[in-house]
Amino acid sequence: MDKLVLKLDATIGYLVIGINRMYKEKGSIYNFPYNAKSIYPKQLLKGFNSLLELCLIARVRPPNSLHELIFEWVEDWISKWPIFEIHEFEKEHYNYSILSNGILSEEAIEIVYEFSHVSAIEDELNTSSFIKELRASSQDQGMFEAYRIVRKWIIENPYMSEETYLKLITRFNKYEDLIRKAYQKVEKGITYNVCPNCHNIMNTYINERYQCDWIVCRRKDSGKKKPKEEKKVQFILKRAFKKFIQRPGLIELDLYDSLIDLGYNVELWPHLDTYDLKVTHSDSELAIDVKDWMNPKALAAQLIRPSTFLAPQIPFYILIPNHHRETSNYIGIVKKNNRPFFENSNNQIYFVNDFLKQLPSL
Ligand SMILES: [Zn+2]
Repeated sequence: MDKLVLKLDATIGYLVIGINRMYKEKGSIYNFPYNAKSIYPKQLLKGFNSLLELCLIARVRPPNSLHELIFEWVEDWISKWPIFEIHEFEKEHYNYSILSNGILSEEAIEIVYEFSHVSAIEDELNTSSFIKELRASSQDQGMFEAYRIVRKWIIENPYMSEETYLKLITRFNKYEDLIRKAYQKVEKGITYNVCPNCHNIMNTYINERYQCDWIVCRRKDSGKKKPKEEKKVQFILKRAFKKFIQRPGLIELDLYDSLIDLGYNVELWPHLDTYDLKVTHSDSELAIDVKDWMNPKALAAQLIRPSTFLAPQIPFYILIPNHHRETSNYIGIVKKNNRPFFENSNNQIYFVNDFLKQLPSL
């Protein structure tokens, strides 16, 4: 990956982590005193300095204070920053802002996660350790089916009433700790607006209506459908779970249904969740992993073929949700940035709908 692109991504990462810390300390970036005595989070200063260097390289005017950075630059699309004079930067990958209406945008958070700054965002549980624990307890108890049920439950229930939560914990009492880690408690008695598409609580209010912060729902214009109003909400899924389990999970479950309709045998999260879907018909078999990453380079960097439970002759498909078609040459970029992975002709990559089109119905 190009050094300057890495620098830009790191700059964005530092700024997001720094701003996130300001929220933790003051509840809002607007409550922060912007004066000489302020002690700013060190990541914010690191991001600011790194941005100044990029401005110098691009020979453009930098933000002249942190105040200008926070109040003007970060609410704008990154692709509109003057540093895009640097020809290595591809504008279409940066069509999002760090803040949106004063809160961290979903895109900014995703980029940070994807470049594994996860540990810097406190209170967010590392989902992979969740999966590991869940797997370990399933293995011990020989109850992998329960793992599937709990995982499916999380995908279908990003929010719950207290009664439902208690029922879930009682039914799967062996997973109580894990369920507690996945959800956070919210205030009682407030009416929440629920996205009709992904069933998450909507917090963004634009043009007199609530909007989902997931780009897929915004593109489907879920705002046209009336959001469900929900008073009983008491537990909502934490952000990391939303990104790595719930939203990709919706795509995995959809794909599961489509493959069943085509006549295939399908198993979700086979071999203790080694990959997402195992598809079989008579004596042929294929493996699928759904990857919903904003940044194709970040995805390319972590692609590996699971060696345990997946024999070398079995085709392994990386499937990209259709909404990433809007990023130009998404698949080309993934392939270019991990040539060794694609040298194995049993490793393939497709958009979900192209993959389904080329599979025959049975
Ligand atoms: Zn939604």
